[in-house]
Amino acid sequence: MRAFSYERPASPEGAVAASGLAKEGGRFIAGGTNLLDLMKLEVEVPTHVIDITRLGLDKIEPTAEGGLRIGALVRNSDLAADPNVRRDYGVLSRALLSGASGQLRNKATTGGNLLQRTRCSYFYDAAKACNKRLPGTGCSALQGYNRMHAVLGASDQCIAVHPSDMAVAMRVLDARVETLAASGARRAIPMADFHRLPGTTPHIETALQPGEMITAVTLPAPVPGRHVYRKVRDRASYAFALVSVAAIVGVSNGRFANVRLAFGGVAHKPWRVDGAEARLQGAAATAATANAAADAVLQGARGAGHNDFKMPLLRNMLRAVLTEA
Ligand SMILES: Cc1cc2nc3c(=O)[nH]c(=O)nc-3n(C[C@H](O)[C@H](O)[C@H](O)COP(=O)(O)OP(=O)(O)OC[C@H]3O[C@@H](n4cnc5c(N)ncnc54)[C@H](O)[C@@H]3O)c2cc1C
Ligand code: SF4
Repeated sequence: MRAFSYERPASPEGAVAASGLAKEGGRFIAGGTNLLDLMKLEVEVPTHVIDITRLGLDKIEPTAEGGLRIGALVRNSDLAADPNVRRDYGVLSRALLSGASGQLRNKATTGGNLLQRTRCSYFYDAAKACNKRLPGTGCSALQGYNRMHAVLGASDQCIAVHPSDMAVAMRVLDARVETLAASGARRAIPMADFHRLPGTTPHIETALQPGEMITAVTLPAPVPGRHVYRKVRDRASYAFALVSVAAIVGVSNGRFANVRLAFGGVAHKPWRVDGAEARLQGAAATAATANAAADAVLQGARGAGHNDFKMPLLRNMLRAVLTEA
């Protein structure tokens, strides 16, 4: 690990103004469960680390609109166990509990979870070409071992996926990410626009500007319907999604109503397709309907070889989730 300086500001304003942040070398640290691993491998080499764990951003509070504001420093375990989240946002609680392990969830934070980096093994291996780690060097996964990689929204520069389970649930809930910039400006970014597709700049992963800090994530008022999070992975714990589905499904008189679907493990961001949800609205709850929705989700899907199985897997999972609902 390279040497770095460390600072622990006492306020959000102090954190974004912290020295070094304006320069490339500044990084916030929250739970540290991803950043520290990357620093040890010298994939991330910050010269200045700003500890944001004492900023008082660890509350879950109701909003005037009937939703919830979740502080950026709320731990994943606390969020999953919160009584309001369990009652009204079951899909979020289930997604969180499917992620990582108990120990990691006790450290991992809401902001850090959204900003965790991909688990592409070539990204973690400094000896391999990787456009995300070092722009312009190439993508080792394209011709390499790509079983975990994207089948939707990828580019010829990068086929990595975003690994967060929580982000998939937040996408289906239409969450907004609240931020604070060094200038003092505040923004609320819809989850749909928060993570980016790789395109020609896979190293730019989100809509955040350098030095901008996540302060909270807000959830709109609860959405009725059955909340489901289903995740297929290589083992029951401590493993990232091969494919996951976050769904809120209403059924009335044998017909789907107000269905929302988001998918993880298939793209560089949580994947949601309006057209798939539209096909389900008011349609009879049959296997043919589920297949039509899967067709819409998989439009433009392309495997890279080892990950081709993700396309039929997604289809089968969607059918299973709709059947369960
Ligand atoms: C073995 C293992 C298995 C795992 N399995 C899963 C899994 O199945 N599903 C899953 O979803 N996750 C999984 N994870 C990932 C884990 O959930 C993340 O490491 C964790 O959520 C990151 O949160 P953190 O607070 O520790 O972030 P940190 O490591 O502190 O930070 C991560 C990044 O976010 C930035 N950052 C943090 N907070 C803020 C903020 N408020 N504003 C701006 N920038 C910020 C940091 O600068 C850094 O770049 C796994 C991790 C490990 C090690
Ligand atoms: S898929 Fe993306 S992260 Fe993985 S090697 Fe290619 S460029 Fe790097």
